[in-house]
Amino acid sequence: MGENIQGGTRRVVVLGTGGTIAGRAGRAGDNIGYTAGEVGVSELLGGIDAPEGIALLAEQVAQVDSKDMSFAIWQTLAQRCAHWLAKADVAGVVITHGTDTLEETAFFLQSVLAPSKPVVLTCAMRPATALAPDGPQNVRDAIVVAATAGVRGVVAVCAGTVHSAFDVQKVHTYRVDAFDSGDGGPLAYVEEGALRVLRNWPAPHAATQVFDRVAGAVSLPRVEIVVSHAEARGAIVDALIAERKRGSADAVQGLVLAATGNGTLHHALEAAALRAQAEGIAVVRATRCMQGRILAKPDESLRDAGALTPVKARIALALELLAASASGRIEGG
Ligand code: ASP
Repeated sequence: MGENIQGGTRRVVVLGTGGTIAGRAGRAGDNIGYTAGEVGVSELLGGIDAPEGIALLAEQVAQVDSKDMSFAIWQTLAQRCAHWLAKADVAGVVITHGTDTLEETAFFLQSVLAPSKPVVLTCAMRPATALAPDGPQNVRDAIVVAATAGVRGVVAVCAGTVHSAFDVQKVHTYRVDAFDSGDGGPLAYVEEGALRVLRNWPAPHAATQVFDRVAGAVSLPRVEIVVSHAEARGAIVDALIAERKRGSADAVQGLVLAATGNGTLHHALEAAALRAQAEGIAVVRATRCMQGRILAKPDESLRDAGALTPVKARIALALELLAASASGRIEGG
């Protein structure tokens, strides 16, 4: 399955999933008119020197534009990470990934694996065929992080910056330095093959113990995201309730409300959300602000996702519903 690239004593395994980092354009000057997920992961490692004493092993897990990321790929990734991390000589895993949903995959893997070794997602904003591609340096930096003793958990590396899976967000459509950690700040920088740590590494939070459930599931419980905004209505939520009442097999089980500011909702959407909760749909509010967290107030009728962004809150709620279905307990909020 894997392919040995270079010799060494400890291994870093590089799993390829596609993305712009593996993208190919018709001409070298084109940074946007390319097809993502075309170049194989072994090819991406060409010309990259591993740190001393490290052997690289490449494995192609998927080859997609990450806008189309799926639960099936997440399942395979979680299984391949668990497989490799269990080996004593594997220092860590690097995952090459598209930038669009990188933060979702990072958060999913952190929630499911809570690994005690590093799992490092990396990416590129320019295709592999660009005049000055950013992918090779990002891969090199990611390998350094994966090989560094003492590093643990799922992180993202882009433009020389290390972000935690909890904080990382894509914040720019075009710039090479496209990710940010909000007010938490980055964990570290990678400078000429060395890590400069900036703040305490996040404590390994208790894994949700859903690895086996994820491995055995056909799909994640359906959780939809609905945005609150000026003139918002409850129509989308009511349609989801109606679908559930009709007994649709794939009916919504959870709802994340991308709320304004400190978790506030348009009154029409809030009323619909309360109807959904009364129907047994799990409802969570997550702020649509780029920074900060929801500071809970007493007597809120709809619970909040704290500092999680709506897309990460969706994953957290889906995993919670998956775990609850194992114990026969699905809560309506
Ligand atoms: N659409 C691409 C992807 O996410 C964008 C990128 O990788 O920068 O796969």
